[in-house]
Amino acid sequence: MPAVQRSELPEHQFVEVALPLPMRQTFTYELPPGYRKMISCGARVLVPFGSRTLTGYAVALSPDLPAEASIERENIKRVTEVIDETPLLTAEILELTKWAADYYSASWGEMLKASLPSGINSATERIISITEKGRSILLRTTNLKPLPARLLHRLAESGNMRQDELEKEHDAAAVKRVIRTLAREGSIVVAHRSVAGKVKPKFRKAVRLLANSSGIDGERPLTIPQQAVLNTLTENSGEMLFTELAESSSSGASVINTLVRRGVVEITKKEIVRDPFSSESLLAIVELELNSDQQKVLSGVVSALDAGEYKAFLLHGVTGSGKTEIYIRAMRAALDNGKTALMLVPEIALTPIFSQRLRAVFGSEVAILHSNLSAGERFDEWRRIRDGRARIAIGTRSAVFAPLSNLGLVIVDEEHDASYRQQESPFYNGRDVAVMSANQTGAVVVLGSATPALETYFNAQNGKYTYLSLAARVGGRPMAEAQLIDMREVFRTAGKDVSISPILADAIRETHTRGEQSIILLNRRGFSSFVLCRSCGESLRCRNCDITLTYHKFDRRLTCHYCGYSVEVPKLCPFCESEYLYFIGEGTEQLEQKLRSGFEDIRIARVDRDSMSRRGEMSRTLNAFDRGEIDMLIGTQMLAKGHDFHNVTLVGIISVDTGLGLPDFRSAERTFQLITQAAGRAGRGELQGRVMIQTYYPDHYALKFAGLQDYDGFYAEEIKFRNRMAYPPFVVLASIMIKHADESYARRNADTLKSALTASNIDNSCRILGVAPASLAKLKGEYRFQILIKSTNRHRMRDLINIGTARAEASGCDPRTVFVEIDPLNLM
Ligand code: ADP
Ligand code: ZN
Ligand code: ZN
Repeated sequence: MPAVQRSELPEHQFVEVALPLPMRQTFTYELPPGYRKMISCGARVLVPFGSRTLTGYAVALSPDLPAEASIERENIKRVTEVIDETPLLTAEILELTKWAADYYSASWGEMLKASLPSGINSATERIISITEKGRSILLRTTNLKPLPARLLHRLAESGNMRQDELEKEHDAAAVKRVIRTLAREGSIVVAHRSVAGKVKPKFRKAVRLLANSSGIDGERPLTIPQQAVLNTLTENSGEMLFTELAESSSSGASVINTLVRRGVVEITKKEIVRDPFSSESLLAIVELELNSDQQKVLSGVVSALDAGEYKAFLLHGVTGSGKTEIYIRAMRAALDNGKTALMLVPEIALTPIFSQRLRAVFGSEVAILHSNLSAGERFDEWRRIRDGRARIAIGTRSAVFAPLSNLGLVIVDEEHDASYRQQESPFYNGRDVAVMSANQTGAVVVLGSATPALETYFNAQNGKYTYLSLAARVGGRPMAEAQLIDMREVFRTAGKDVSISPILADAIRETHTRGEQSIILLNRRGFSSFVLCRSCGESLRCRNCDITLTYHKFDRRLTCHYCGYSVEVPKLCPFCESEYLYFIGEGTEQLEQKLRSGFEDIRIARVDRDSMSRRGEMSRTLNAFDRGEIDMLIGTQMLAKGHDFHNVTLVGIISVDTGLGLPDFRSAERTFQLITQAAGRAGRGELQGRVMIQTYYPDHYALKFAGLQDYDGFYAEEIKFRNRMAYPPFVVLASIMIKHADESYARRNADTLKSALTASNIDNSCRILGVAPASLAKLKGEYRFQILIKSTNRHRMRDLINIGTARAEASGCDPRTVFVEIDPLNLM
């Protein structure tokens, strides 16, 4: 970019600031004169807000008070400080986060904060340096007061210092006062380091060869050790870390110091890029030859890349069909076109094996953004992307906001995965933001999955996305066989509750005897319970919404948390009159113990978020399993995703019904995905794999089609249900959660909001359901109520929510209790 002269820059008196608070509006501040020319959009600013000082983001600048400013001229407050001289946020990120905030009726400031690597938003650092004027005052003035004199001395010695260091050396309050005075008279300047917070670039001591040093200091020739050190340095392009160079010879450190004295080399500082890959050994690249299906898919994507316009693909490829290979080659093609590429992966899929593979293929061109990185690593990777040193970014959900410029390709692997949905404010879906980002920048987007989300497949059917398919596994490997185990039968035979059926137990033993491995999925620990009949397998459902009714202990009733319908728990099954009604959703914890005691000779490890909270532990366990040091992995559904273990031939799903019975209209889809993905983990090598599913309800269509690995069959059935009951993709859904520790207060706010929404729904373009207790009616000490809105018109619905919430607020509804979620994924 051409350098712009400061004097040419326009002067801005006002700035619009987006604050990371759950509020949708931005705030107008006045800029102090010193900042008017230096600030640009995307810079962070410190502003007073109530009694606090907050870090916000400059999103618009103007020379005059904007006409639409919601505030009187005389009430406008001033920006305290501009933190970044070079704006941290790119224009693209500002645009994308603005779109996402509007789309999700969320706060722009929160969206902006979510787009930055964590740690960067913490407190800022003030750097004090002495000016020429300060130096001359120090020299000439004899009657300086003690503290100003001491501070100026200190600064003259070291050039500049952090204010907090100075504060530690003296009385902090006095230092603050003196610094203000000195700054005002121009003896010092105060700067704010743009790298705020705890994360900063990391530097280490380095040695650099000085130019023209060859014949230096003719008096004495270099000794042999000195020459050796010098040679090593030359071989490493003239600059090395001090420790590394010192290790290259026995008396290294002292030899280097001598060379410094003799003026041959100098000591410098070198930035150490904290590299998330560095501890892992690199894999050798195996160049595979694409099969003809893969070639066809790849050329579809590549010709879109060459066209250089927005285009969206759904890549529907069965598990093991070689999608990864296509992603890698498509990214290479994007780079060859001079563009950058972004790849999103689900939380769990960023396995060390996969990252190593990418590093082997793309070297330092690839940066990785992942929640398991340290704050420092993440910050360095983010800056490598921001500066264009890395042109490929791979990461989980929030990597969709990676500051890539000139974006050519966006890949979303396992696009159906729930981890793309942020489950707290600001709510957004990384997959949908990815599509929008591609649309905004004219990039190609590829959504890949073996089990596309119903909405995505629907878009491929109606032509919004171009459909690409890989229908067979690579190398003609067969799909794993899936077998349903009828637990009603097992219950009848045993006459009591059995958690692991004899047939599954036998399969586990056989697998182990053959020296092969197994994966056992326990379902998500029950947090909401529902009623299921052990004789016929039916669960009790709402007659309006056709979702499972949730059992609430406090009133011993079954309630629909979409519409509020509620009934008493029946004594007998309404379908078959059996008395074996069964409360599901509790007690999966003991299963691990049962497995361990039942199979004592099998080496078992458990993988889930709770047991794997320590950094690196998950990858250690997965690596050990890959090397065959563990025989069986037990875990939740996260284990079903993305892994490529060649010796796994058995996957068991202990209680699939917990998932099927979740009070969510997506429960069938989720269950279908879980089984298909789990089947994809079995038999990926040369060996045939099998999947065993324990269920009380083997007749359910999700289980039937999953057993047959028939996506189209499932889709045809499921889309009918969505249409009949008016669920997405036929309507847009919004959920509004009202939460508070005081139950009646929460309820009152919910009722106020409901009436305001109803009153604002003049053209009846939306259906408003509830107020109903949420499926998790009480969580973390808060009572939770839910209002559900359905509409065929997304814009109308957003308007209704914006108008309705404002109106409710005017009638006394407390906005801090209200959480709006557009396109919610989990209705809990
Ligand atoms: P998916 O992501 O579709 O489940 P993967 O990309 O993991 O499938 O591929 C499955 C396996 O097949 C991997 O071990 C991969 O290395 C291998 N593979 C992919 N493409 C080819 C090919 N053209 N020839 C041989 N092996 C391949
Ligand atoms: Zn029954
Ligand atoms: Zn209902």
